[in-house]
Amino acid sequence: MEFSQTGRPVDDVIADLEAKRSDDVRWADGRAFGMIYDGGPGVHEAAERAARLYLHENALNTKAFPSLGRIQSEVVGWTASLLNGDDAAAGFLTSGGTESILCAVKAARERARAERGIDQPEMIVAESAHAAFHKGAHLFGLELHKTAVLDDWTADVDAMADHVNDNTVLIVGSAPQYPQGVMDPIPEIAALAASAGANCHVDACMGGFFLPFAERAGRAVPPWDFRVDGVTSISADVHKLGYAPKGVSVILHRNKDLRRYQTFVFDDWLGGFYASPNLQGTRSGLPMAAAWAVMSHLGIDGYVELARTTLDNADRMRSGVRAIDGLTILGDSQYQLVAISADPASDIAIDMFALADALESRGWFHDRQGPPDSLHATVSNSNAGVIDEYLVALRASVDEVRGATTDDRSTNYATLE
Ligand SMILES: *Cc1c(COP(=O)(O)O)cnc(C)c1O
Repeated sequence: MEFSQTGRPVDDVIADLEAKRSDDVRWADGRAFGMIYDGGPGVHEAAERAARLYLHENALNTKAFPSLGRIQSEVVGWTASLLNGDDAAAGFLTSGGTESILCAVKAARERARAERGIDQPEMIVAESAHAAFHKGAHLFGLELHKTAVLDDWTADVDAMADHVNDNTVLIVGSAPQYPQGVMDPIPEIAALAASAGANCHVDACMGGFFLPFAERAGRAVPPWDFRVDGVTSISADVHKLGYAPKGVSVILHRNKDLRRYQTFVFDDWLGGFYASPNLQGTRSGLPMAAAWAVMSHLGIDGYVELARTTLDNADRMRSGVRAIDGLTILGDSQYQLVAISADPASDIAIDMFALADALESRGWFHDRQGPPDSLHATVSNSNAGVIDEYLVALRASVDEVRGATTDDRSTNYATLE
């Protein structure tokens, strides 16, 4: 692949890009259950106009771009108030959930080193916790203990307690966890962490911009945010059900003393004083400004409306799936996440990945996951108005794959190239 010597007109270049996209998943007509979250035309307009304004700006140095400093502090402050942090709560914007989680792991390690003299840090997560925690343990040199989930797919706090020792610096709960969409028992996990003098991080990458609005829409939500004693940090992705374009998440700490352990400051470089809030250096202003614009455009009322639509769609998907002989839903998920699997109680054995192929041939895209083999959906406003059509396609696909199997067992949540 050689880089061409001569350039080409912009129209030509853009036409090429449009052609390249033709094989990509058809998210704009609501047929993808994840990865892209579509807040509708008003949200698009807010994001796109903000993106144009901030396409070139760099948040590396907010002395040069004070507007980005204010944008960050407002988005973080609004999020802290949604998650019931008090005036002491503090955080930063990051590029996504993974970076927010990495920052939480690093902060826990640094706090334990500074306050408890721990140099062999250990952390405890349920097997349902996002893979980014394993990445964090790998990058920052923590030993990670992984515990099995209970039959209802929630974290087993007794099993977690068995791994607590003098080196425990972090215990994690998810609100909700990604694979089955159920809520971990955050008060019990936070109490365990507090009794060990460790941090408790709540991974609300999925729930952070959904649970506060679901609660306002009247759905029961168990305690999970800063109202729970012992929770020291929370991650919440604006680029998921916050409906901002990709590249923006919030990492929040209960107070500035805890946040201090996240940051990196270096004052012995020929390039000058270097202070870094997260893992990035040069940092695009685009996702930050787009998140600010989308949140400002929607307000709490706009988000509650989108949450109502999403809950209605997710509920209809769950009951539609349960009504199909051979399929079931894993766990008692109450929110936007749905995991569909073969029903062990049924005589009909369905190969879930053959089912995914059959759905894909009809234009519907699910992430495949396991164990156990299951199809994952993050329902959002993107899927408003298509659930009935989806259930028709699902029934037809089930009929098609009864007795059929596929050799392809791959489950790609993420890929290398
Ligand atoms: C999406 C997600 C993450 C990771 O976030 P990215 O933005 O993909 O890096 C972590 N935890 C949960 C529960 C998630 O849903």
